[in-house]
Amino acid sequence: MNTVSTVNGGIPFWYAHGGTPVPREPLAGDTSADVCVVGGGYTGLWTAYYLKRAVPFLDITVLEAAFCGHGASGRNGGRLHNGFAGRGRYARLHGHDAAVRLQQAVNATVAEVVRFAADEKIDADIHHGGTLEVARNPAQLARLRDHHSVEIAFGENDRVMRGARETAERVRIAGAVGSTWTPHGARLHPAKLVTGLADAVEALGVTIHESTPVTEIRPKHAVTPYGTVRAPYVLRCTEGYTAALKGHGRTWLPMDSSVIVTEPLPSSLWDTLGWQGRETLGDLAHSPVYAQRTADGRIVLGRRDASYRHGPAVGADTATRTPPATVDALRDLLVRLFPTTAGTRIDHTWSGLVGVPRDRCATVALDRSTGLGWAGGYADCGVATANLAARTLRDLIQQDSGQAGPTELTTLPWVGHTSRRWEPEPLRRLGVHTVRAAYRAADRREAAAVSAETDRLATWADRLTGRA
Ligand SMILES: Cc1cc2nc3c(=O)[nH]c(=O)nc-3n(C[C@H](O)[C@H](O)[C@H](O)COP(=O)(O)OP(=O)(O)OC[C@H]3O[C@@H](n4cnc5c(N)ncnc54)[C@H](O)[C@@H]3O)c2cc1C
Repeated sequence: MNTVSTVNGGIPFWYAHGGTPVPREPLAGDTSADVCVVGGGYTGLWTAYYLKRAVPFLDITVLEAAFCGHGASGRNGGRLHNGFAGRGRYARLHGHDAAVRLQQAVNATVAEVVRFAADEKIDADIHHGGTLEVARNPAQLARLRDHHSVEIAFGENDRVMRGARETAERVRIAGAVGSTWTPHGARLHPAKLVTGLADAVEALGVTIHESTPVTEIRPKHAVTPYGTVRAPYVLRCTEGYTAALKGHGRTWLPMDSSVIVTEPLPSSLWDTLGWQGRETLGDLAHSPVYAQRTADGRIVLGRRDASYRHGPAVGADTATRTPPATVDALRDLLVRLFPTTAGTRIDHTWSGLVGVPRDRCATVALDRSTGLGWAGGYADCGVATANLAARTLRDLIQQDSGQAGPTELTTLPWVGHTSRRWEPEPLRRLGVHTVRAAYRAADRREAAAVSAETDRLATWADRLTGRA
């Protein structure tokens, strides 16, 4: 496989053809608003969108450090799916029924994102073909069966289990021994979605300032080098970049996720792969892969990396490069999954940040005593979760300002949850790298084993991280 001409880092492939949008003006001095949103990704922009639609007279300002979509929202794998970080723990904390309500809200969110794009006439290459998760060895197959039954217990009666032959009829993945398919998934073009979303928000009358980094968030204030925005509500929507904000160094771990994109594949090669349904893909590995077939016939494939960033590296543009060893690992994974891609060129690779809470639970909250709100910690499930968070923040603000009462969304179990902070260094680094190494080793050992047992290393790591 040819990686000589691979572009590494910089702006993601998603912007390569259209370029990044024309920059909006930075903040020009002190000002005030009813609501100040910090961060111009899906969370911040959708919050501004739904809030402005609900209460048109609200004066809303969005402050974005770079450009809207600079973060994970413009550089993700484009897999809109109904995964949710922390559902198992929420079921333990609040009961099964509460977690079922949460899952149903996430399922409905996939449809809401598709509807939103259609209503706003945003052509984001959306293909609502569902999500297929595959097993490639006996241990993965055992987990796949459990996963399938658990999802059905969480109300997904439309989920379909498939054997090896039926899976191959959908997508020919080497070694696939079974799969589970959910209709609650869609393929999309992340940058087209976030760019269209920013335009829709602006068209509603929301003010967006780009190239405006917020250096401090405190009650009723968002402080930038160009001035301070004073607002009764200040919402932190900075996900993987949160660690760079004063006082948040240990809130969510800024972990790297890395992606490769192939050249457009010829139709003869697509004939060897099938994948006519354009389902987004995942697997049951401990370090799971995500993949999509793009509208222009490429494969986008990614995986969360073992590394995380700290200090000035959070948000630095140079840090969007993918380390060569990770590129090699992703390329090998691509060829192991799809052997006929062995001679295919990798056009682009990049990395981005996801926010990972210590207890792996995504959260959304509004502190009524300070007017500070936040949402994030979505890990790899942020495309749908960000939309759910945004509509929840809208409802929380309306409730707090006396315009509405509690809603179905404000009573979901993730609202107001607080995760404990990450350990200080060097404990954190030691823990994260040990756990990651354990998962990688477990994946390798399971791939070579005939046993359907989950590898002991992974069971140990699950206990340590609270995944079990
Ligand atoms: C490589 C990669 C692949 C992924 N693939 C998938 C996938 O296929 N499916 C899925 O569901 N999820 C995926 N995710 C996760 C998903 O993209 C994110 O969870 C989601 O986009 C988060 O949106 P957000 O708006 O909360 O954060 P972001 O999109 O990261 O937006 C935060 C914004 O805040 C800005 N900002 C940060 N600090 C400041 C500051 N101090 N002042 C002002 N602005 C600031 C940033 O510039 C950024 O634009 C992936 C993530 C990555 C990195």
